[in-house]
Amino acid sequence: MQSPYTYLDYAASAPVRACAQQALARYNDAAYAGANPNSLHTPGRLARGELDFARKMLCACFHADVKPHELYFCSGATEANNWAVRGLASAMHAKNPHRDRIIISQVEHDSIFALPRMLTQAGFRVSLAAPDEHGVVTPAAVEHLLDDDVALVSCMYANNETGIVMPISEIAHAAHAAGAYMHTDAVQAFCHVPLMISNVDAVTISAHKIGGYVGIGALMVRRGVHITPLLYGGGQEAALRSGTQAVCLASAFAAAAAECDSALASSMQTTTALARDVTKQLCDSGMFEPTSDIPYGELRLPGIVSLTHKSIDAQTLVLQLDALGFGISSGSACGVAHAAQDGVSHVLVAQGLSKDRAARSIRISFDERVSKQDLQRFIDSACNIHAR
Ligand code: PLP
Repeated sequence: MQSPYTYLDYAASAPVRACAQQALARYNDAAYAGANPNSLHTPGRLARGELDFARKMLCACFHADVKPHELYFCSGATEANNWAVRGLASAMHAKNPHRDRIIISQVEHDSIFALPRMLTQAGFRVSLAAPDEHGVVTPAAVEHLLDDDVALVSCMYANNETGIVMPISEIAHAAHAAGAYMHTDAVQAFCHVPLMISNVDAVTISAHKIGGYVGIGALMVRRGVHITPLLYGGGQEAALRSGTQAVCLASAFAAAAAECDSALASSMQTTTALARDVTKQLCDSGMFEPTSDIPYGELRLPGIVSLTHKSIDAQTLVLQLDALGFGISSGSACGVAHAAQDGVSHVLVAQGLSKDRAARSIRISFDERVSKQDLQRFIDSACNIHAR
């Protein structure tokens, strides 16, 4: 790896925050470290206390009167998303057998976008809501598909490739008017922008997108909303997601969330200024153009810059910049899954970009911890790649 190396792929996984590392260290030093939080003995009860505290801290970060019994820990957002879509739709269908259709958006992360085949095999029909040319899934696009046969609408809060924030509260309003449940994957938005989820039935979050550790996430499900269990076993997480909870990861997740939440306004301001500057300088070079004109702020995540290069394909750009000491991703990449496909982002194509243009799209993602100087070195290098 080049030294120094500037990591600019926070939307894939953000560097672990010092406060999360400290939470983990504190746990390791505790007399009850390693105790099962479901055990009756003293170490078990102390571990349960730490888990309960972490759950409460996370609930507070929603700013929507989320109660501890409405938040279920699991291994991450892929698990939470799979569970939400299958569990909510199945529970609704069990109550109302005529409700056998699920609406998802065309710009979902693969942890939802890959589900239709399984859902169809399970007897559901799936309708896809298209984004407009700016990448926004509008309430009208969802309303147009809604009817009394819909069990669930699932639409992400903010897109992981473009950073576009969706009008989730309005979409939830439309879903409820048709009698359907509403779920949102808020992984990229939670603790990055203020969330408006008071009228949403279920919300997915994940620790490693905010500086917690990989391996823990949570699904918030409102009291009174029916969801089938994900895992059967010892009855943990109110018997909906059995399996011994990872207390240390939950504590680190809560520490990261509390830190992000308490500094949200100032970090949004800092990150927005950085994103504007990266976008302006790269677009002014004449070699890049934005994939959407929506301004950074509450309607577009400040920490995700999505641009298309005029001529170089994204994989070449990613590898060349890596060799120069900068870690970014192609617009479509969040892991290996896309490498097996044709490398073209389903999100950008749904938004109306040609496949060719989508294949030249890159994502630069960061938060308030990245320095202006490092970003300037990145901008200079990205412009030089063209020169060469
Ligand atoms: N949803 C979105 C929007 C994401 O960006 C990601 C991560 O890339 C996921 C879900 C999956 O998250 P996890 O890695 O926690 O399973």
